[in-house]
Amino acid sequence: MKQISTFGSSSYQISDLQLLRNSNDDAAVARLLARCPIMRLEADEAVSESGRARLYIVLRGALSVASDTRTGMADGTVSKILPGESVGEQSVLDEETNLSSITALEQSEVLVIEADLVWQLIDESNVLARNLLRLLSFRIRAANAQLRRRQKLGEFYRQLSMIDGLTGLYNRAWLNDLLPTMVATAHGSHAPLALIMIDLDHFKKFNDSHGHLAGDEALRSAAQVLSGALRPTDFAVRYGGEEMMVLLPDTSDKVAASVAERLCERMRSAKVFADMRQPLPHITASLGVAVLQPGQNEHDLIATADAALYRAKERGRNQVAA
Ligand code: GH3
Ligand code: MG
Ligand code: MG
Repeated sequence: MKQISTFGSSSYQISDLQLLRNSNDDAAVARLLARCPIMRLEADEAVSESGRARLYIVLRGALSVASDTRTGMADGTVSKILPGESVGEQSVLDEETNLSSITALEQSEVLVIEADLVWQLIDESNVLARNLLRLLSFRIRAANAQLRRRQKLGEFYRQLSMIDGLTGLYNRAWLNDLLPTMVATAHGSHAPLALIMIDLDHFKKFNDSHGHLAGDEALRSAAQVLSGALRPTDFAVRYGGEEMMVLLPDTSDKVAASVAERLCERMRSAKVFADMRQPLPHITASLGVAVLQPGQNEHDLIATADAALYRAKERGRNQVAA
């Protein structure tokens, strides 16, 4: 970073500087800026910090500003500062040294204005104050928009981490998060909460005979059977491996049993076609139904459904037990 001239002895004009544009007394502003140095930076050269707050205005070339990594807003954002634009306003205003790292993207010329002079300009010409306010309000708006985008993205990834990748059903993490609340709500409102545990029959054999990929395909069609047969208020979860679960809020044992029968029927008639030339055999499932009893917690509810499922297996599979 080498001083090549001062603003007064250069051919740059006040109108080249966004922050000072539209002043009604360019001559006065030019007088104040006359002795400000113009520095030249080679490509990739960093702005060497003096330890003092300064305002940098790009006159030619372009600077890259990497956001401060110590402010908690560490977001790795890099902005490009083009001719007429400035960097460092905020550090001048709050008297903190600039913590962002500034480098030249190409050979550039930069006007350097020390903080004292910025304040003098603010005192003597309200154009800088006006333009600064406009610029800062624009930056706050942009920062807020970015924050909102990031919050949305965070929520998106949070939801993504609650969905099973193979089947698209909710996963165990979702269940651990939501089931205790559903149980508490059901107890609180005295509304029944039904749970159906579903386990594919002889699935190990299916995998062994048709391969793991065909097994995955079968799991996907089983999941489709579940999600296609439920009301919008019901939830289908992949509990683990080839075990799935359906949660039915506000559903009595009778209705839950008939839903389970319907699922069992649809499961046995669902087609698994990994390859049209080699149709795969139909899959079947065993289902266990339970309805939340007074005093039961989520573990008790799952255990009751599991016990019913075990009975369905014992009685020959491809059926429902309660
Ligand atoms: P049962 O009728 O008693 O339930 O017999 P089963 O063979 O289904 O029971 P077991 O629990 O012994 O086997 C489950 C099989 O499910 C074994 C495992 O390879 C398979 N499996 C679990 N997760 C996946 C998966 O994501 N993809 C595939 N293809 N297979 C899976
Ligand atoms: Mg099984
Ligand atoms: Mg199993």
